[in-house]
Amino acid sequence: MNESPAPTRPLPSPADFGFDIAHRLERGGVRGTGDQPLGRAGTIRTPHGDIQTPAFVPVGTKATVKALLPATVRELGGQAVLANAYHLFLQPGSDLVDEAGGLGRFMNWDGPTFTDSGGFQVMSLGVGFKKVISMDENLHQSDEVIAENKERLAHVDEDGVTFKSFLNGDRHRFTPEVSMRIQHQLGADIIFAFDECTTLFNTRRYQEDSVDRTARWAVRCLDEHARQTAERAHRPYQALFGVVQGAQYEDLRRAAARGLAEMTGAEADGQRFDGFGIGGALDKSELGTIVGWVNDELPENKPRHLLGISEPDDLFVAIAAGADTFDCVAPSRQARGGTMYSSTGRINAKSAAQRRRFEPLDPECDCYTCENYTAAYLHHLFKAKEMLASTLATIHNERFIVRLVDRIRQSIIDDSFAELRDEVLGRQYGPDFARKTAAQSPR
Ligand SMILES: [Zn+2]
Repeated sequence: MNESPAPTRPLPSPADFGFDIAHRLERGGVRGTGDQPLGRAGTIRTPHGDIQTPAFVPVGTKATVKALLPATVRELGGQAVLANAYHLFLQPGSDLVDEAGGLGRFMNWDGPTFTDSGGFQVMSLGVGFKKVISMDENLHQSDEVIAENKERLAHVDEDGVTFKSFLNGDRHRFTPEVSMRIQHQLGADIIFAFDECTTLFNTRRYQEDSVDRTARWAVRCLDEHARQTAERAHRPYQALFGVVQGAQYEDLRRAAARGLAEMTGAEADGQRFDGFGIGGALDKSELGTIVGWVNDELPENKPRHLLGISEPDDLFVAIAAGADTFDCVAPSRQARGGTMYSSTGRINAKSAAQRRRFEPLDPECDCYTCENYTAAYLHHLFKAKEMLASTLATIHNERFIVRLVDRIRQSIIDDSFAELRDEVLGRQYGPDFARKTAAQSPR
């Protein structure tokens, strides 16, 4: 049942959302063309509470962080949760989540929430991106071959994307308007514009067309967002983030970021993006450079979310270049497979070396798992295929990444970012690696 509108309640307002910068990364970060440091620590204000940034946001794809209670996510330091519009649209249906009072109430998470637009999943799960890529031995496919492969499970046209459900093969269609309606029904505090997600294997010509199409879709998202916000005045304001694409091309990335920064709705005059997502194909070796181009163009006073990143070296590089929040399924997915993060690099919880290791998996970790269990016990749970293995492992990996980003935030405040980076990455990947990463960061 929808709640009846409270008569005294004002319309949901963009003023209910905000971002304040508290500190700038002066030493060890990337500077933009205006010679300002791009990295920063700040606070995102949402109707469901604040997020201290930089922050890692645990992923709860289907309205649950797999194997964890929401109270546990909170306990391990998670400030917000990101769910997926595509998955929740297919199951149980975004209308049902709306009836339940929105994503947060449905899953019993009272903090800030994000949903991603479904664009990536529609195109990657629907199309079978990995298959397309693995078929491509020369790493250069013609647009025609890519289009042909896409036709199998998803088809992109000017208006939107038609795709088959990965659950049962049913045919669905996402347009910018549909994605906005779904995300308003889900009711997350931060939602994303519907964009076309390309791969590094698309040609330059395809990337140009795609960036232009994503810009036209972004205007339609702003308009539909304004309509939904007015129609659903009984719900808290949802902040809409535009998504910057453009693959590895500086001119495309900068133009896309500038365009989204200045964009207003066509019908809803004055409706602008509340923040920005950085998405799409990102070659690891160029991550910092690309994030730097984009953030150099984006307005300083709005938050920037880097989609799908959580590797420790990538986090340092992206924060140095001005990214504020991150999400990624990797920490929990790897945990369920037994791959554990530690201060000295990855540990396979199932390896023979852990069998009689009667000490915490990572003695420096402060998580519930490391404070109460030994690596030997975790090894046993994995070998016996016990459910608790996933829970204890996920607690550790999520805490490891959340805490790492919290430490990076503190280092920006203390002006010790470069020292923390060299120490953490040196121990994580070896001293040579840390030197290389430092050398790669401009200035
Ligand atoms: Zn731990």
